Amino acid sequence: CKAMNRSLANVIFGSFGQVAGKELVAGEKRTMADVNDVQADDVAMLLAYAKQVVIVPGYGLAVAQAQHKLRELCDNLESRGVNVKYVVHPVAGRMPGHMNVLLAEANVPYNQLYEPEDVNPDMANVDACLVVGANDVVNPAARDDPDSDLYGMPIIEVDRSKHTVVMKRSLNPGFAGLDNELFYLRNTMMLFGDAGDSIGRILEDFREHRRLVQRDRLALALRLRGDHLIRRLRFRQGRGGVVDGADPRDLLFGGPGPRQVHENDERHHEHRVDRRGDEHLGRQTEQE
Ligand code: NDP
Repeated sequence: CKAMNRSLANVIFGSFGQVAGKELVAGEKRTMADVNDVQADDVAMLLAYAKQVVIVPGYGLAVAQAQHKLRELCDNLESRGVNVKYVVHPVAGRMPGHMNVLLAEANVPYNQLYEPEDVNPDMANVDACLVVGANDVVNPAARDDPDSDLYGMPIIEVDRSKHTVVMKRSLNPGFAGLDNELFYLRNTMMLFGDAGDSIGRILEDFREHRRLVQRDRLALALRLRGDHLIRRLRFRQGRGGVVDGADPRDLLFGGPGPRQVHENDERHHEHRVDRRGDEHLGRQTEQE
């Protein structure tokens, strides 16, 4: 109850003054046109270049029964050298310990499970957060909007990471019946569909990685971030065009950027890019 900022009665019987399934939006109603709607292959590429990935499971993971596929996806990422953390919110799902039970079913190692307060302070350095059927527990209104019924509930602050991918079927609200500003942020990508199907498609894309690397890596990066990336690249090049050979990892997750990166860190970073981007994605150095 403390984690939900609600009384026991409200937790069990309450629905935040809202009929489930209906949106309670203060301002103008948002539509699909307002979101960055992506496909599984975009997400596969993002994850393939990431170094730090945070997984946020929610009630939708239980509905989709996608815990085994999620584990498979995370194992795949780990084998590529990606650091993966599962972050479990105490009220995610519909009963205490719901996510722990699901992840234990899939034999997710205990040492990969984290609590929100373990990851929130370092969220700005997380390359990608994968929100798998969670909604209320990642709603920034709980932190930012005193008028929200969720206000005061601690959240997993995925909106502060470099990229967030939200897997769900629609823009429908979760248990609290509230819209979620996270879905409309520039750094958020919505991968619509059943979570199990979406994860399956990402895994399929990894299996067919040759097809991925045959395409122009820069074009893929630009497709993901559109205008924002183009602006950033133009700024860096100091002219009006896009230059071949730009590093997609740098484009996707930012280089030194606003963060101060030590010279040695940068060298290490470049080494990691070469190793994962070329070896793990099968691209031969001589082809570049
Ligand atoms: P939410 O209920 O906020 O959101 C779950 C989301 O899952 C929905 O928005 C839904 O979106 C999506 N979803 C449903 N089915 C699927 C599917 N097959 N594939 C992909 N996505 C799917 O869940 P959270 O876990 O974030 O939060 C839990 C909420 O439940 C909190 O408000 C909490 O207070 C409350 N609660 C928790 C209890 C507990 O003990 N854990 C007890 C009672 C209440 P869409 O329909 O678009 O797919």
